[in-house]
Amino acid sequence: MTRYASDSRDRVRDAVDMVDLVSKGTELRRAGADHYSGLCPFHDERTPSFGISPSKKVFHCFGCSRSGDLFDFVMETEGLDFVAALESLADRYGVTLEREDEDPQAAERRRRRERLSELLDRTAEYYARYLWESEEASRARAYLEERGLAREILERFRVGYAPSAWDKVFAGSLRRGFKAQEVWEAGLASRSQQGAGRLYDRFRGRIMFPLSDRRGHVLGFGARALRSNQQPKYLNTADNALYHKGRQLFGAHLARAEAARAGVVVVVEGYTDVLALHQAGIENTVGIMGTALTTEQVVELSALAPVVALALDADGAGREAMLRAAQTARGKRVELRVVALPAGMDPADLVAAQGAEAVRSLVEGSIPFVRFHVEQILSAPLESAERKDAALAELRPVLAGLGPSVMREELIRLTADRLDLSHGLVASLFEGPRRAAADGGSPRGRGARDGHDGRATRYGSDGRDAPAPGLREEGGRSGGAGQGPRAPLSQAERTERTFLALCIALPDLGREALRRVDLERHFTSERTRRAAAYLREHITSPIDDLPADDPDLASTITELAVRAEREPALPATLEAQQLDLELRRLEREIARANADGRLDITTLAEQRSEVKARFDQAIDKATEDVGGEPI
Ligand code: ZN
Repeated sequence: MTRYASDSRDRVRDAVDMVDLVSKGTELRRAGADHYSGLCPFHDERTPSFGISPSKKVFHCFGCSRSGDLFDFVMETEGLDFVAALESLADRYGVTLEREDEDPQAAERRRRRERLSELLDRTAEYYARYLWESEEASRARAYLEERGLAREILERFRVGYAPSAWDKVFAGSLRRGFKAQEVWEAGLASRSQQGAGRLYDRFRGRIMFPLSDRRGHVLGFGARALRSNQQPKYLNTADNALYHKGRQLFGAHLARAEAARAGVVVVVEGYTDVLALHQAGIENTVGIMGTALTTEQVVELSALAPVVALALDADGAGREAMLRAAQTARGKRVELRVVALPAGMDPADLVAAQGAEAVRSLVEGSIPFVRFHVEQILSAPLESAERKDAALAELRPVLAGLGPSVMREELIRLTADRLDLSHGLVASLFEGPRRAAADGGSPRGRGARDGHDGRATRYGSDGRDAPAPGLREEGGRSGGAGQGPRAPLSQAERTERTFLALCIALPDLGREALRRVDLERHFTSERTRRAAAYLREHITSPIDDLPADDPDLASTITELAVRAEREPALPATLEAQQLDLELRRLEREIARANADGRLDITTLAEQRSEVKARFDQAIDKATEDVGGEPI
């Protein structure tokens, strides 16, 4: 992770014009010497209850009680973490951030990436110019126009066209002072089989869609063929130092702010679907560029918004994709919903045929994934008793995962109607495996293994899975693959690991929490102590730069990061976990004081009971938070 010099925060704060910053999204009126007010960007309102102080660079809303400083403002409105907000503001207000403690290797890697990034950015610019200015691109312009895409939206996404000549980009890049090796590393060149591996342009005669990181820096391209004999139809940048296809969401940098505001991100399949929806004003849309949603994409999506609405083609492949998406989303902190598109239509078709309003109301009418899944199962032919039994078997894990709720009742009624069985019978069929699952031990329903249970959508939403929310501890078998079984972990070490996993899951709070713990006194094993020290420096991207020369630390961190994705993570749970560490520390201290016959034992005992009371409160809070979440 990048670390910036300690005065970075202040330098950026000084440089930012708070009125200018907030005015980008909210019209502000001067309301006092050091006060501007306007409509709140965080909640819908008609009379302004949102205000800022330009000198203090803070905001507050009397309507929804959100408040914070300029960094919080950017983090919340743009869905960024602190470092990204700092970088983005530094970019916008012309502050050069200085890095601290960067080792020469990391500095070299960074400089290389910056060169590649510059090359990609210039290339995107070149493609875009070529699309609008060249005669050769007239067919591409006609195609895009036919798709109903206006120039304004194409420019916003920096859509371009790659000339069909063999080496325009390659030769142009060399002229600009880039090395052949850099053009290759940026994924812009292919190597010929003959001619001693001569390099030539990878993308030729294609419409170019730049793929960017969350701040809009180009990392690679998706390229669509224009002629029917051009193979493949879609060609992407090959994975390289900057670009990983599986992680990429098309349009995420342009969707981020609206997704953060709306609390939902809409997922479509293709590039033109993303463009069409943005053009229709649904700016919280991103593209997955393929039918299979990857785990990394789910993680990226969950960073954009807590609710993910899948608007994939309703044909067979799209349905399959949504079921797979639910499997992938299992255990992630996202709620999956499904936008019911008319069969045979993709979102771009729909905008063209019925207009923006029709699409917007479909997105608003999205249904919870579990309902979609049940309807899918019941839409199969169900005339024979055998088929009904098969459908029931498939439904069981789906419904068994749902806690008592109106939704569950409705779905049971739907099932009873469709299968022509009594409501009571269907309800009782779905009762059985639930308790067994909650008791641990016995095997969980089919669904738990094949991902077909309805809780796919939101981890821990019914609370039953996690009796003490988030405090569930791992068994002893946590050794990394291929290292043989490790000694079982002590109870103390398990608590320490849970704490660290929660810090990763909630990086902003985690950073604070890690700062507050005492490595020597709160951790009992060298393993967790070193992991904690490492995480203090790498909390936002723990697995990005794992130390190659320390496999033990690397494997501990990897385990924790994986666990962080799986566990329910709530601020109250993290607090409880930290108090648990403190309780354990006090208990060890008391035991030592006892053995040594020390006199401060009463003070320690008092401290312990005070911490215990706070711990109990935090547990209550965590339980409430988990139980209170919507299904
Ligand atoms: Zn507000």
